[in-house]
Amino acid sequence: MSQNTSSYNIATKLIHAGVEPDKETGAIMTPIYQTSTFAQSAPGVHKGYDYSRAGNPTRAALENALAAIENGQYGLAFSSGVAATDAVIKLLTPGDEVIAASDMYGGTYRLFSKVFEKFGIKFHYADMKDAENIRPFINDKTKLIWTETPTNPLINITDIEAVATVAKSCGAWLCVDNTFASPYLQNPLDFGADIVLHSATKYLGGHSDVVLGALIVNNKDLYDQLYFIQKSTGAVPGPQDCFLVLRGIKTLHVRMDRHCENGEKIANFLRSHPKVKTVYWCGFEDHPGYEVAKKQMRKFGGMLSFELTDESIEEVNRVLSSTKIITLAESLGGVESLINHPATMTHASIPREERIKNGLSDYLIRLSIGIEDINDLIEDLRQAIG
Ligand SMILES: *Cc1c(COP(=O)(O)O)cnc(C)c1O
Repeated sequence: MSQNTSSYNIATKLIHAGVEPDKETGAIMTPIYQTSTFAQSAPGVHKGYDYSRAGNPTRAALENALAAIENGQYGLAFSSGVAATDAVIKLLTPGDEVIAASDMYGGTYRLFSKVFEKFGIKFHYADMKDAENIRPFINDKTKLIWTETPTNPLINITDIEAVATVAKSCGAWLCVDNTFASPYLQNPLDFGADIVLHSATKYLGGHSDVVLGALIVNNKDLYDQLYFIQKSTGAVPGPQDCFLVLRGIKTLHVRMDRHCENGEKIANFLRSHPKVKTVYWCGFEDHPGYEVAKKQMRKFGGMLSFELTDESIEEVNRVLSSTKIITLAESLGGVESLINHPATMTHASIPREERIKNGLSDYLIRLSIGIEDINDLIEDLRQAIG
């Protein structure tokens, strides 16, 4: 077992949680245990590992680190964020109902509506900017409440504590997708969530070089159920990918500080630009979720979206293809800045009518602000917007 880092501050935890020098060699970094199986001295007699789907030492180091940095007891790593979401829904049985946020990552919506509806799980969608909007959907079949904050891509804020209170009142689990904030900015378990989900592909990995998902919980029974699903359905990450995320975690705080600093400067630059109509960023004092964000987040993050005053697809496409440093691509949370068109890229799987009803227009542009020099980034946006 790795050292107990629970009393340390976050920057120390990020570097030391889950890892310790290798007992045999003194290697500072956890080795990549690139093996599918482990020798046994007699049937069932082994050193804690028998087969890498069930467990692998590199994955174990990562899972311990994930638990520690989210202030949880147990971590589980999956082959993608979506695979982690899939595992949570497999806690349910046909007939069970889920109340999910109406504004969330398109791939989560697709998994719920196109895959799990078929298996008899029912999903309701509520605007979770106000936790009270959940109540009308609650009945005796409600087993899970699913939220994301800040949301992708509209940067709406959900009050985790308020939603946790509603979840407890009906005996449902609360799962919070914490991908946008990362554990450095927000720890949902501290506010009453039962399960925290990450697409570690984003800020935890941080370098756009790995796809991986994570769940963190406190409850042993919930962990046992999720571990059973992880091992039985098999969507586990390989040791090399676990290593990349373990390495990424060590600089999360340093990267996030710069993402947040650059994010704030770009949010203010865009807001004062005459060709920009609306900027969505939860650090503005007049953002509807500002007070809640201040309560549950340490800083406001490096994700923001905006709309131009010229609402034509041609103009949106022109800006999207005019940036030089900022790359047009899916994904977010890496050291490099990315620009994205949610309506046709990350959120294309949400029916247009549904998408527009939730405030996600055809003209919205999303930015994942990287950690490049701020003046270069602002100059790039200035020349692209024109
Ligand atoms: C990317 C993303 C996911 C899905 O994660 P993958 O690693 O791409 O499978 C889930 N939630 C949010 C908020 C995301 O941005």
